[in-house]
Amino acid sequence: MSLPSTIPFVDFSLQHQPIQDQLERAIQDVIQKGDYVLGQALLDFEQTFAQACGTAYGVGVASGTDAIALGLQACGIGLGDEVILPANTFVATLIGVMRSGATPVFVDCDLQTALIDLAAAEKAITARTRAIIPVHLYGQMVAPNRLLDLASTYDLLIFEDAAQAHLAEREGYHAGAVGIAAAFSFYPSKNLGAFGDGGMLVTQEEIVAQTMRSIRNYGATRKYFHTDQGTNSRLDTLQAAVLQTKLPHLRSWNADRNRIAQRYDALFQPLADYGIIPIVNLSGEGHVYHLYVIRVLEDCPIDRTALQEELNTLGIQTGIHYPIPCHLQPAFQQLGYAVEDFPHAETLSQEILSLPIYPGLHESQVDQVVSAIASLVGCPIGGLKLDQALSAQPSLVLG
Ligand SMILES: *Cc1c(COP(=O)(O)O)cnc(C)c1O
Repeated sequence: MSLPSTIPFVDFSLQHQPIQDQLERAIQDVIQKGDYVLGQALLDFEQTFAQACGTAYGVGVASGTDAIALGLQACGIGLGDEVILPANTFVATLIGVMRSGATPVFVDCDLQTALIDLAAAEKAITARTRAIIPVHLYGQMVAPNRLLDLASTYDLLIFEDAAQAHLAEREGYHAGAVGIAAAFSFYPSKNLGAFGDGGMLVTQEEIVAQTMRSIRNYGATRKYFHTDQGTNSRLDTLQAAVLQTKLPHLRSWNADRNRIAQRYDALFQPLADYGIIPIVNLSGEGHVYHLYVIRVLEDCPIDRTALQEELNTLGIQTGIHYPIPCHLQPAFQQLGYAVEDFPHAETLSQEILSLPIYPGLHESQVDQVVSAIASLVGCPIGGLKLDQALSAQPSLVLG
């Protein structure tokens, strides 16, 4: 028996190596120009990325967290306002709300999709609710039409957390173009990642874009004239140049992720009888699969922790996004939430496991991951029907 080859959770070299020359040239250009802060490559990238999202304006900032915190401020949301967000998001969504001065109001998620439960969101609305933050978790958008209905019925602002959903689509809407504004992150492992930290606010509203430009630059509308209580949070020109170079490849990288996910979905079908089910995709090819997440249910013969450990021993790296819901994080106990407040978020936090998915991950590696899980849960490998899954979906074959 040959030793299994290692499958890392992410592998940047598959993305960067084919375009290394272009990346180096882009970086050299910035060094030559010397416009390191608020330079030309940033202006160019802001325009192209906003356009790719179907929005008019983009404002680059230092991180996705800043895009949320400062973006809420630029939308006029702050002290005294309640902002609804899902309990099962990355803590940065919560940090952004806290920093804006607004009061976070958590709601539960849907068990199948892991996305915010909009019926639960409706019940959480009070006279002070100003905004809702749909988090397009794992790369799947929160249903835009229902979201827009809810927002217009209760006169709420929609502020999208699109940090995991670059170029995602659903019901004809682009991630970032549903609400008044949206926050993106360019953390290296995101679908579009920089060589360091970065973020952007995109918006259709000129006034929001203007305010955001001021806030990220010490609150100055012109030099030494401060009209907003701002800070220093700019996306570096160097990072923008890197992102601009990578952006033309993003669509095909996302398509790769989607095809890998379809293959996982097909192969995992027989494993439902063994307590392994994937998070459900309700948006088809518009899902950009920042993460591919399965649930290890209670009736699975192996528990989630043991499964993760065994896979690690086999050289297959996995992750958990996220093991503790926001409302149970020690730092935020003063918000007054408790165990059992959000049963779906809590259940998912115990069940979920993120599998390797990234552009360039080979189909045989996908098969290897599923075979390993099948054998660990006691499903005969023959039951996987690898060949049938393949022939039934010829579009699955990666280049
Ligand atoms: C990554 C992420 C953020 C924060 O972005 P940073 O660039 O790391 O600050 C916010 N929300 C979600 C859902 C994320 O995944």
